[in-house]
Amino acid sequence: MTPTPPERSNFVRDIVLEDLKTGKNGGRVHTRFPPEPNGYLHIGHAKSICLNFGLAAEFGGKTNLRFDDTNPAKEEQEYVDSIIRDVQWLGFNWLNDDGSERRYYASDYFGQLYQWALQLIRQGDAFVCDLSGDEVRSYRGSLSEPGRESPFRNRSVEDSLDLFQRMRTGEFPDGSHTLRAKIDMAAANLNLRDPVMYRILHAEHHRTGNDWPIYPMYDFAHGQSDSIEGITHSICTLEFEDHRPLYDWYVEKLGIHHPQQIEFDRLNLTYTLLSKRRLLQMVQSGIVRAWDDPRMPTISGIRRRGYTPEAIRNFCRDLGVSKTNGTIELRLLEHHVREDLNKRAPRMMAVLKPLKVVIENYAADETDELDAVNNPEDPAAGMRKVPFSREIYIEHDDFKEDPPKQFYRLSPGREVRLRWGYFITCTSVVKDDAGNVVELRCTYDPETRGGNAPDARKVKATIHWVSAAHAVDAEVRLYEPLFTLENPNDTAPGEDFTAGVNPASLEVLQNCKLEPSLAAAPAGERFQFERLGYFCADIDTAPDKPVFNRTVALRDSYAKIEKREQKK
Ligand code: ATP
Ligand code: MG
Repeated sequence: MTPTPPERSNFVRDIVLEDLKTGKNGGRVHTRFPPEPNGYLHIGHAKSICLNFGLAAEFGGKTNLRFDDTNPAKEEQEYVDSIIRDVQWLGFNWLNDDGSERRYYASDYFGQLYQWALQLIRQGDAFVCDLSGDEVRSYRGSLSEPGRESPFRNRSVEDSLDLFQRMRTGEFPDGSHTLRAKIDMAAANLNLRDPVMYRILHAEHHRTGNDWPIYPMYDFAHGQSDSIEGITHSICTLEFEDHRPLYDWYVEKLGIHHPQQIEFDRLNLTYTLLSKRRLLQMVQSGIVRAWDDPRMPTISGIRRRGYTPEAIRNFCRDLGVSKTNGTIELRLLEHHVREDLNKRAPRMMAVLKPLKVVIENYAADETDELDAVNNPEDPAAGMRKVPFSREIYIEHDDFKEDPPKQFYRLSPGREVRLRWGYFITCTSVVKDDAGNVVELRCTYDPETRGGNAPDARKVKATIHWVSAAHAVDAEVRLYEPLFTLENPNDTAPGEDFTAGVNPASLEVLQNCKLEPSLAAAPAGERFQFERLGYFCADIDTAPDKPVFNRTVALRDSYAKIEKREQKK
């Protein structure tokens, strides 16, 4: 079972409050969000973004956007651009009062980091090692076994300085040397067993080009970058807890500003994979169309799908921040999306699986303009006109020839209300040769215009509809979770995560019928299609062919999925 979401508590906030009380950091709060530009941001990153930017904003502090770009092999400008776009879209910025940006790159600090590496060598705290990668690993030992010291550990400071400078000028091939910190090969924490600080990599960097044939490791770059920027609270996810002693060791040995690293629980979501590596695999293998496929948990994917920044921020606020990793139900995220869209999305009528209805007592050349309320939750959204004519479409599912008990919608002889319109009664059913219902014949009661009968007679159902003569044809894309497994990593032995991919995560409907006011909806515009859910115009929308994504259904459908899962 999935654990219930934690309380809305935030222990990092408590630490910041305490520091402000004691006057630590001179009353400053300065955080950073440090993405590696090796993929698009996902909803897990949103939690970190809201935490870092949210805390600083609350206490009048600052947040830097810092690209942790120390691994040229996997990093690209496209990712940098997408990250900038996504953080801004979530509603945060890194501007100073004078309009300048606090956008930084670890690669801006390569020169300073190099100088600091030289300092550690001179202090006797670092050495150049000639062991290969495999050898370094085998010398490291394990949790139960201490490591062995490198035979190069005690080479002279002069030798190490000379070799490191020659590493820097590009004299040596990849993998031939590393620079390592001289800490303790017997340390219980493996991260302290003479960790590698620099490796040789003749690779072009997306910002520094071919300036550097050596690159600092994450641990040697991160804390020092924080220090350079005057960060007070360096907030990261729990898997970095074991790296904290190393973070502290570097800044202490260098004698520079010492930010406090604080680790929190990373977000995991049911039916969802939150790992850039996996998401990249899904893009590359064609499981999804792109990083911004509306099924993806990326910020760009859920934006395209129609999620709002407000909904995501509310969701993140609800998560709380703790020291224990857990898994949050996807339905909690969807709940916030529904709540927010309920307030802001205009209601419209659209028929996804159309069944034609001919209203026999309505003149063929006549049209009526009915008044419809745009959003009952928002009086400022006003009213609109909806055209009505002799032929309309209703949802196929809203008719049953032999209605079961509890089915109150249209069936032969039954009267229902058309939303904003008239009462209609089904008089006969037209079928094709195979016996499928292809058309209904109905009559309407002109006295019920606007939805009420003068004799106060009642109907049990109100259904949505679209005038056939005025309908706009559209493509509508329906989405289900990308994975059928609550935990997509729970595949059988020998199977990888792709075994849990949901083959029915996308359903494309053609020839859906929209009311005409939806004809010119620009990409990104969100609506409620009455009785169906929230929908958003997709970027594939063309002037003559609207394309809509279902953002989320009106009601929680997970109960259904869970029942299906339990039956298996
Ligand atoms: P991934 O595992 O998806 O590749 P990452 O941790 O490698 O993510 P980074 O670019 O290094 O990605 O992350 C930037 C920041 O976002 C880091 O501080 C990281 O701890 C945080 N972060 C990443 N994933 C999550 C998550 N699922 N929940 C909360 N914070 C996260
Ligand atoms: Mg990372």
